[in-house]
Amino acid sequence: MDSDNNKLSQAEIDLQFMSKAYQLAQQAEALDEIPVGAVVVSNGKIIGQGFNQSILQSDPSAHAEMLAIRDAGKNIENYRLLDCTLYVTLEPCSMCAGLLIHSRIKRLVFAANDLKTGAAGSAFNLVTHEKHNHKIEVCSGIMKEQCSSLLSTFFKRRRAEKKALKQQDKSSKS
Ligand SMILES: [Zn+2]
Repeated sequence: MDSDNNKLSQAEIDLQFMSKAYQLAQQAEALDEIPVGAVVVSNGKIIGQGFNQSILQSDPSAHAEMLAIRDAGKNIENYRLLDCTLYVTLEPCSMCAGLLIHSRIKRLVFAANDLKTGAAGSAFNLVTHEKHNHKIEVCSGIMKEQCSSLLSTFFKRRRAEKKALKQQDKSSKS
């Protein structure tokens, strides 16, 4: 009983790592990239991290999950991320869902759902598809409000900026 008092619950641990992924998403936002962040955790330690930087790197595969998993693989010098958990602020797309299977990640924890392209149940379910040999445990919803509002605020701001640019264009022509 005593020793259990010091132990964090799984929900507390998940919150701690999702907060880190959220900070990474904020870094992406500061660079004008779609704000998504991810960390890979093994034995309670972060072994890989990344945030979306497709525009900066001119690389459509530079999603947060992709960069975090590449980072983790390099750090542990292994192409299999056995017993690892990936925390990401947005539901993975179909490309990243495939990567999760290839990396043999054990558990996926994501915050916000991506209703248009999410591949962990929203638009498709490629993460836990029955045809895969590898089974991934999925958990979602943690810090959902914060992570989705970071995204919606970003898109709103970008739309407003584009509109302002168009209007500037119009007025400079007239
Ligand atoms: Zn992706």
